[in-house]
Amino acid sequence: MNKDKEGCMQADKQKELANELKNAFDAVSPFIEKHTSIVCPTCETVCCINKHGNYDSNDLVFIEALGMEVPRYSPDRKDTDPCRFLKEHGCSLERWVRPYRCTFFFCDLLLKSLEGDNAKLFRAFTEFLKHLVSVRQQLLE
Ligand code: SF4
Ligand code: SF4
Repeated sequence: MNKDKEGCMQADKQKELANELKNAFDAVSPFIEKHTSIVCPTCETVCCINKHGNYDSNDLVFIEALGMEVPRYSPDRKDTDPCRFLKEHGCSLERWVRPYRCTFFFCDLLLKSLEGDNAKLFRAFTEFLKHLVSVRQQLLE
């Protein structure tokens, strides 16, 4: 196989995995949102500070594989200021566009709320999360 063809096949595979990862974020999001909507509105130490909205190199692999532009930075905003994507009703980005850490940070309150939900739903959620992690690993390999 020539190198151009090999490169094209790799790009197609990356795109396929990136789309699978996007779907995996969509699958876990409703359950997380259900619980963030319970615990976050009264939180006094909101975790959405600006530095947490920054993308790392692995996030960029995903975004680039989808052919998307990276959401803009606000260079004047301090790391500890509220995240530039945080709006009145929470994060303004769809979950799959957010940095990975935004989905994988579970504070104690949030974790307790998730675990306190129906056991079957919680189990299904953890299976979806495992799937998400596995697809992401494949994409980054
Ligand atoms: S996830 Fe936890 S720390 Fe972050 S805003 Fe919600 S309650 Fe607060
Ligand atoms: S969830 Fe949204 S608002 Fe919160 S840190 Fe991440 S990108 Fe910013």
